[in-house]
Amino acid sequence: MALIVQKYGGTSVGSPERIKNVAQRVARWKAKGHKVVVVVSAMSGETNRLIALAREVQPEPDARELDQMVSTGEQVTIGLVAMALKQIGVDARSYTGPQVKILTDSAFTKARILSIDEHNMRADLDAGRVVVVAGFQGMDADGNVTTLGRGGSDTTGVALAAALKADECQIYTDVDGVYTTDPRIVPNARRLKTVTFEEMLEMASLGSKVLQIRSVEFAGKYKVKLRVLSSFQDEGDGTLITFEEEENMEQAIISGIAFNRDEAKITVQGVPDKPGIAYQILGPVADANIDVDMIVQNAGVHGLTDFSFTVPRNDYARARKLIEEVQKHIGAKELIGDDRIAKVSIVGVGMRSHCGIASKAFRALSEEGINIQMISTSEIKISVVVDEKYLELAVRVLHDAFDLAHEPA
Ligand code: ASP
Ligand code: MG
Repeated sequence: MALIVQKYGGTSVGSPERIKNVAQRVARWKAKGHKVVVVVSAMSGETNRLIALAREVQPEPDARELDQMVSTGEQVTIGLVAMALKQIGVDARSYTGPQVKILTDSAFTKARILSIDEHNMRADLDAGRVVVVAGFQGMDADGNVTTLGRGGSDTTGVALAAALKADECQIYTDVDGVYTTDPRIVPNARRLKTVTFEEMLEMASLGSKVLQIRSVEFAGKYKVKLRVLSSFQDEGDGTLITFEEEENMEQAIISGIAFNRDEAKITVQGVPDKPGIAYQILGPVADANIDVDMIVQNAGVHGLTDFSFTVPRNDYARARKLIEEVQKHIGAKELIGDDRIAKVSIVGVGMRSHCGIASKAFRALSEEGINIQMISTSEIKISVVVDEKYLELAVRVLHDAFDLAHEPA
């Protein structure tokens, strides 16, 4: 007998029919003798609908009140899922985040979980009930409803699994696992049977939308056994997120290709090459709470250098305004911006022990005539910035170059 946390995303609970299917799946796990905690998202489209509704009333919605109303999406789903379970004879009880006592900080719309009281959930599980919990929400110390950021139900699932020391946290979604890349771009992309936690973290932060980044961080920190599965298939093992030290088989060198279109680039040309310049350029951007991702500074020539960095495309206009101000102070020659770029990244823990990965990637891109605008690397990833119009081609070329369609021998 195991304790399993199952998280179902918006499409998996998108209609009464699908909610009934979820209940059937939960009932099957229960019938095998397992204890089951179910975490659900709002029905698909509902969170977007609620946010749009808020904006009609207040264009920049008050964060506290936004959380108060947006959290209702999940509250609807828990009631329906508990009903669907009772309808087929499975005893169940639903809880909102505040009812569980998922305590968070007070950062409305992006709160962090501080603690979870598992007392009520345990009592229900021991009494043979399925516990159904609303994802994405909690309560701060003053009793305000908070939400955990878009995609936050994944984090609720993992956090509950950690608090309950569950044997496994299963994330049910509309794909049947984590793929080598997006199958909509590369039709022969392959489902990975396993992927390491660090690779998953890179892929999540590099644009793969399968899991919320914070949920992966949480799983890593608390060593939660995490699995991504399809809610539309009865069979299948999905993808298991493993810890590297547990991997005994030969690791693939590259596990996947991630990409992100939501990037923009700003280049300041002819900057005096002296101490404090990076700070003068990036300080105001950081103060405006804009995330800077890649940063490249050229070796200076004749006391001048060029400085480029990327920001989320949504923040591009704001960042550009700030840098126009900075440009005057530091006497930079020119400012160039481009909000039609994309970042493509190859990820794999095997890179640690293999050389030549970067040159192989660069050659493959050059053979297709794709110009690389920026490069950044870490121990387990290589990212390049390319013109957005080459994004799909770049992903395909790299997927081919590393033969990701085939299981490593
Ligand atoms: N319903 C929330 C969202 O759409 C949380 C989630 O689905 O994970 O972002
Ligand atoms: Mg999601």
